[in-house]
Amino acid sequence: MPTNAALLARRQAAVPRGIASATPVFAARADNAELWDVEGRRYVDFAGGIAVMNTGHRHPKVIAAMCAQLDRYTHTAFQVMPYEPYVALCEKLNARAPFKGPAKSILFSTGAEAVENAIKIARAATGRPGVVAFAGGFHGRTMLTMATTGKVVPYKSRFGPFPADIYHVPFPVAHQGVGVEQSLQALQFLFKADIEPARVAAILIEPVQGEGGFNIAPPELMVELREVCDRNGILLIADEVQTGFGRTGKLFAMEHYPVEPDLVTTAKSIAGGLPLSGVIGRAALMDIIEPGGLGGTYAGNPVACAAALAVIEAIESEGLLARADALGERIKARLNAMARANDLVPIAAIRGLGAMVAFDIVKERGRFEPDAETTKAVTARALDNGLVVLSCGVNANVIRILVPLTAADRTVDEGLDMLEQAMRLAA
Ligand code: PMP
Repeated sequence: MPTNAALLARRQAAVPRGIASATPVFAARADNAELWDVEGRRYVDFAGGIAVMNTGHRHPKVIAAMCAQLDRYTHTAFQVMPYEPYVALCEKLNARAPFKGPAKSILFSTGAEAVENAIKIARAATGRPGVVAFAGGFHGRTMLTMATTGKVVPYKSRFGPFPADIYHVPFPVAHQGVGVEQSLQALQFLFKADIEPARVAAILIEPVQGEGGFNIAPPELMVELREVCDRNGILLIADEVQTGFGRTGKLFAMEHYPVEPDLVTTAKSIAGGLPLSGVIGRAALMDIIEPGGLGGTYAGNPVACAAALAVIEAIESEGLLARADALGERIKARLNAMARANDLVPIAAIRGLGAMVAFDIVKERGRFEPDAETTKAVTARALDNGLVVLSCGVNANVIRILVPLTAADRTVDEGLDMLEQAMRLAA
């Protein structure tokens, strides 16, 4: 097999710089929470392919379901000759929708496509153009989702002009000095200065910002947004592409809140590594668009649907929601101890909902000045120690932990040991 260095040279010659890779090593094999590179080196996986592997790499039930489907048919296009796995998956999603009343679901391939389509549905259903999103939010790399993404560099820089009528308000992050009140005031200011609420179709929010730094939306914010939506005929869209599928200890993070969304996007961990996404929404909204208005050649691929049905089965039969809570507690306990250690880089704001856990790396203990440079060094040293872990956050100083929920305690502890070693000051 070629070496990592040889593959890196070929990659650099053949693939543009615009797609960045977090590690300079190449995958050869993966199993549950472990990865092996082409030179046979083993890694503990705390990245899960960016929040995709909640049920672990090559979960036996998911692989079996994919293989069985491969033997039947791999593609007919749901728009040409529909198939049962698509319908069965939508039935399961509808039954588990984080809102009361009848639900319908539609499937796509990527998270961005799900967000695009949720906005299309919201615009058609309300007859309004406006979308309000949050600073620091990430919704994808297509034109409309790039416009709703609340971070310029590197996602939006030089790619405009963007679709009109997309607005941003601050997302409350207590340790960055932004409170719920400020976000809500900014929303009211927006309604005065830029767009009247009667022209707004939807408010788009991640219950826990993913790329933006694992910032958890306070329940007071969600309750107030729901009220603003109800008062003004605006729809609330929860982007659960990263929070979804069991990560937070619930199938959908919105189940942690006392209010309901109207539309929910899902992707990533829904299909155990195959490209699949969806929009789950109130049935009356979902049926507003005329036949042919929604879809995509590959949308809701049957092999991906079969995988997703097995993922749901695995989450339920293996108690992975409870496991997410237990994992989150285990990880936070270790991080809290690390925060007290004087021989480690200073960390702060340890936070998490279920197993969606993160912390900031800061310049000085007790303060919140972000340290992006040290964060970069920590993830690089972690890789040297045998751990794949990702950073995130608008200031690039957040370490996020996305270990599969199926990981054994000893593998999680091993990964945390490697992380601790990477944060040792003398290292
Ligand atoms: N929404 C959220 C919350 C995400 O985290 C992401 C991906 N990181 C997306 C949308 C876009 O998903 P995709 O990359 O599959 O298009």
